[in-house]
Amino acid sequence: MRAPLPDNEAQRLATLGRYDILDSEAEKAYDDLTRLAAHIAGTPIALISLIDKDRQWFKSKIGLDAQETPRDIAFCAHAILQPDRTLLVPDTTRDPRFSDNPMVNDGLRLRFYAGAPLVTADHHALGTLCVIDHQPRELEPERVLALQALSRQVVTLLELRRLAAELREAMAERETYLEKLQEYQRALEKNNIDLQRASLTDALTGIGNRSAFDLSLNQEIYRARRYGTPLSLLLIDVDHFKEYNDSWGHPAGDAALLQVASVLRRRVRPSDFVARYGGEEFVVVLPGTDHAGAIKAGEAVRTAVEQAEFPKCRVTISVGAATLLDGMSRGLLIEAADQALYQAKRGGRNRVVQA
Ligand code: GH3
Ligand code: MG
Ligand code: MG
Repeated sequence: MRAPLPDNEAQRLATLGRYDILDSEAEKAYDDLTRLAAHIAGTPIALISLIDKDRQWFKSKIGLDAQETPRDIAFCAHAILQPDRTLLVPDTTRDPRFSDNPMVNDGLRLRFYAGAPLVTADHHALGTLCVIDHQPRELEPERVLALQALSRQVVTLLELRRLAAELREAMAERETYLEKLQEYQRALEKNNIDLQRASLTDALTGIGNRSAFDLSLNQEIYRARRYGTPLSLLLIDVDHFKEYNDSWGHPAGDAALLQVASVLRRRVRPSDFVARYGGEEFVVVLPGTDHAGAIKAGEAVRTAVEQAEFPKCRVTISVGAATLLDGMSRGLLIEAADQALYQAKRGGRNRVVQA
């Protein structure tokens, strides 16, 4: 006779699923318990049977070859209907639930059955720890108690397994979470660096922009004062650039500015700082450079631009050079260079004037 389904079958199956035990490998810890059960009961067969939707599957088995059977003929499907009781069947041929069972009547000829349900904390019977014999027989009350104790041990093993799996999952989750966090952090840092770089770079020429110049000049003035080293500044303006634009077009003008920037950068020392001051004006900060050095550097960049091959026509620059004096503010230094540049323009352009 086929066993009816327990009332809570859906939840029971969901609980069983949580142990992730079905179709797992055989394990010694479970096999030890079935061996003990068989020994205590004195039966040739002992099983840990789990009742799945349509089958019973054996986590551990002694004295039986099958790994599973259909649920329809499972003795244990009857045992789980009463989670609090051990199902005792002294003679299967005399019990209407089992007398028509093929395992009773065919080759196996199972006659005696005792199954202690495997009951979880939330009162779901997942299966049984059962002992089976080919002879009809009884099981003394102490042995029934021992079988029940062993079935609780099986549940403890199942619980441990579930907790270990949950722990592994939590750790893996934590790890991926941490990895994600680090990834975000790296992206954020990179973004910050990119933003910082962008905010200090002139988009057209790729050299420092006005903000970068401000930072650099502040820093160099501080250093010059602190270490008593000289500091000079070149303010540079491209000559007749309006004409250049008018003659060759704005894009050609852009290309010329890009070329001027690259000539300047190549011509000065690596420790010098070149920036675009605005429009067609550039600035060079010259740390450790005095009056004479500033004139030299100014001449060097002026000649370099004059001699550079521009695609459309010759390009020249005017340069105003100024050197930081004692007590001179940053504003005054720039103003001095600006004045010198103005003089260079007035003097006929393509020249360097010292403030
Ligand atoms: P001066 O020798 O007195 O400096 O003459 P100038 O024509 O260079 O002087 P002005 O300040 O009158 O003109 C500067 C020109 O530079 C005007 C503007 O069109 C051009 N200019 C400024 N910035 C850019 C730019 O980013 N791209 C291009 N193509 N032209 C620019
Ligand atoms: Mg100008
Ligand atoms: Mg100009």
